[in-house]
Amino acid sequence: MVRAALVELDVPPEAALFVGDTFDEDVAGAHAAGVDALWIDSHGHGVPVGARSPRHVVSALTALEDVLASGVERGA
Ligand SMILES: [Mg+2]
Repeated sequence: MVRAALVELDVPPEAALFVGDTFDEDVAGAHAAGVDALWIDSHGHGVPVGARSPRHVVSALTALEDVLASGVERGA
């Protein structure tokens, strides 16, 4: 699904940031497609042990604006 969306939007994976609220589906799915992710960890579970961390972890969607305003630097 992520790859199909990138093709449809003509966006390379490295230029995209997937925003999602479920680690196993959203973050892992984005990573599988070569896209970095912002995870909305609204329950404060934290990144599962051994899993690749998303580029950003926030507690609520309302934090997305601040992340985007910061320029969404890779590795920030
Ligand atoms: Mg989700």
